[in-house]
Amino acid sequence: RQPTDSPLYALLTAAADYYRQALKSHPTRKAAVDYLKGRGLSGEIARDFGLGFAPPGWDNLLKHLGGDSLQHKALIDAGLLIENTDSGKRYDRFRDRVMFPIRDSRGRIIAFGGRVLGDDKPKYLNSPETPVFHKGQELYGLFEARQNNRNLDEIMVVEGYMDVIALAQQGLRNAVATLGTATSEEHLKRLFRIVPSVLFCFDGDQAGRNAAWRALESTLPSLQDGRRARFLFLPEGEDPDSLVRAEGTDAFRARITQHAQPLADYFFQHLMEEADPRSLEGKAHLATLAAPLIEKIPGTNLRTLMRQRLSEITGLSGETVSQFASSIPAAP
Ligand code: ATP
Ligand code: MN
Ligand code: MN
Ligand code: MN
Repeated sequence: RQPTDSPLYALLTAAADYYRQALKSHPTRKAAVDYLKGRGLSGEIARDFGLGFAPPGWDNLLKHLGGDSLQHKALIDAGLLIENTDSGKRYDRFRDRVMFPIRDSRGRIIAFGGRVLGDDKPKYLNSPETPVFHKGQELYGLFEARQNNRNLDEIMVVEGYMDVIALAQQGLRNAVATLGTATSEEHLKRLFRIVPSVLFCFDGDQAGRNAAWRALESTLPSLQDGRRARFLFLPEGEDPDSLVRAEGTDAFRARITQHAQPLADYFFQHLMEEADPRSLEGKAHLATLAAPLIEKIPGTNLRTLMRQRLSEITGLSGETVSQFASSIPAAP
């Protein structure tokens, strides 16, 4: 899928080495170290995830990896340098940021995320699409999660780098994050090749709730019988990072056990907020919304059970529900 022999890998690895080294020894490192400490991260977890620091300034990496014009071009292709189209001047993409190396499933560094040390905008900056980095397919932390778990049985999907790392530091080493994109069908296909169960745990805000429903839609085509997805909704204003640090590992685990909602439950609950089945009109609307989605499920048993559930809620016969469903063209 990706060029296995791309010269970009070596450059990305060299950049990661540079950023890691800068976090250890650059004269301006203190701000970054203090920032990470302030967020409760240990040196050990920072090492595990290969965190680094892009020092302030326009040409730290440029000078370090230096080279001729050909090398500069390769660094631009790798997303590490930017060329000003007017002046032709080249400069570091990542400046004065904490650096999160992003690995592919084989552990090769393919991109970076960088976070500002304060509240400046944009808070996060990712590598652009490159020949070795396709944002919509990669999952941050997947390589690390597989490294750290011999028998992964469930993967947790969260929104951000810091969520993955904070959870890992608290012993929950099975979290991955999408890279500022919605959870796609591609992501889910990939995850279900590794584990039979996926737990979505997005931020307790409107963006997080919207992301959860989109994730549900992306999950349906992967739901063969024997697989499952669950959703854990967090209190307003919390994300996995803030919550696991506030309440600790045991409480967070207990929260999962007690509150993770099976996909089918969330499915009907959410749709019943849109279409109130207390009226006939609501029942009709609910059936229209639910039926085509249920038909996306490849697992025959789950699909049948969800049709039955829809027919219980609406009073439409099971036959009507499934006929009705198959008469509606699936969404593009
Ligand atoms: P932090 O905890 O570091 O302050 P956050 O939890 O406030 O970040 P959110 O706004 O919730 O961050 O965003 C969740 C995740 O989405 C981020 O961790 C990052 O991975 C990604 N993200 C956010 N903004 C951007 C952006 N501008 N570009 C790329 N990815 C982004
Ligand atoms: Mn958020
Ligand atoms: Mn956060
Ligand atoms: Mn967040």
